[in-house]
Amino acid sequence: MGSVDRSRLEALARREEQRFVREHPRSRELHERAARSLPGGVPMHWMTKWAGPFPVFVDSAHGAHFTDVDGHDYVDLCLGDTGAMTGHGPEPTLEAVRRQLERGITHMLPTEDAAAAAELLAGRFGLPSWQFTLSATDANRFAIRLARGMTGRPRILVFDYCYHGTVDETFATLRDDGSVGPRRGNIGPAVDPALTTRVVQFNDPGALERELAAGDVAAVLAEPALTNIGIVLPDPGFHDALRELTRRTGTLLILDETHTLCAGPNGYTGEHGLDPDMLVVGKAIGGGIPCGAYGLSAELARRLDTLTTLENIDVGGIGGTLAGNALSLAAIRATLEGVLTPEAYARMLPLAARWTNGVERVIGTNRMPWHVTRLGTRAEYHFLPTAPRNGREAAAASDFELERYLHLAALNRGILLTPFHNMALMSPATTEADVDCHTAAFEEVVAELAPA
Ligand code: PMP
Repeated sequence: MGSVDRSRLEALARREEQRFVREHPRSRELHERAARSLPGGVPMHWMTKWAGPFPVFVDSAHGAHFTDVDGHDYVDLCLGDTGAMTGHGPEPTLEAVRRQLERGITHMLPTEDAAAAAELLAGRFGLPSWQFTLSATDANRFAIRLARGMTGRPRILVFDYCYHGTVDETFATLRDDGSVGPRRGNIGPAVDPALTTRVVQFNDPGALERELAAGDVAAVLAEPALTNIGIVLPDPGFHDALRELTRRTGTLLILDETHTLCAGPNGYTGEHGLDPDMLVVGKAIGGGIPCGAYGLSAELARRLDTLTTLENIDVGGIGGTLAGNALSLAAIRATLEGVLTPEAYARMLPLAARWTNGVERVIGTNRMPWHVTRLGTRAEYHFLPTAPRNGREAAAASDFELERYLHLAALNRGILLTPFHNMALMSPATTEADVDCHTAAFEEVVAELAPA
């Protein structure tokens, strides 16, 4: 806040909004029609939050680009918020999916791809045993249940401003007085999240030690780096402290790699040699086909057998009729084998560095008090002069109007950023020209905003 003149921002935002409406008549028309049968004119309510008076409606998407129904082409730096980190429709995944469509989509029975997909995940992340779900949310939910079931403890611990999908226990935040309360906007919580959840700031081992000392936490659920309040990187030594404290207090450690798979082919866990008890992943591993997975250490896989009886195994709160379906598993196998390969990362990583350098140069030239953070193939700018060290600092720097303006201005110049913060993700199909297209647009837009 404070880095831009608010009346100038308001005038520029109005100009961009008029341009957006003028250039998207067909999206507008579809939105008006959709509003008669879909609340907000969208199939999922958070889609109303895109910058602009209505979202663009997509016609088709291929690789790192998509086309809207008005015929505009976009560089997609959002990539389905990681669901399409492979690029849209990667050929090896499409080929496997086409083949599987002809052979049965879901039959409540395993296919050979199940074992192959589990072996590939085990090879990347080091955990030997895997289960599959339809979403990362479900994988987190089931991992939490298992943790409570195995430890007999009632609570979980998360970091302030985390996001792990629509998991009730994670919609908790720290109030100014240090107590736990519901996260802003939390709709219809089953119980007060303070009953289920302890919350501490990321990068604060002292607070972690204090909160785990009570001995009532089944598991810490954490992204290895926060990515959902912008990127917040772990301090050197933080992961060692997290692992040591969880072990010392008999608390399980669940790492959620759904987004941090951007750190490298083996995720943050594999790249940094972390050793969690469980690991959750989803979105990108299916190349866009709905899926999720959680891995268990050898020790937890052994304990799993003692949790329930065969007679009750389908009603224990861990399930999903479509979970582990043949189509998802074919997609996961093909994506891990042929798309999110070490060679693909070798192309994506320098692109993210190029994006970061471009944004840093524009920020520097225009003397904006902003900062860029990169984690592997993902990068993001914050309205802060230095990198945030925890969720609270990152959240305090958010600026709803400024962010909306930058997103809408980018959209008008053919670029889709990840909504709700200022993130760009590279895919194996992204090119240097795509990155440079963003840098040029960012330069134009920031120069207009910058103080004279
Ligand atoms: N974990 C993390 C770290 C996420 O960012 C998200 C979604 N953004 C999820 C889990 C949930 O993924 P999904 O919505 O696909 O279930």
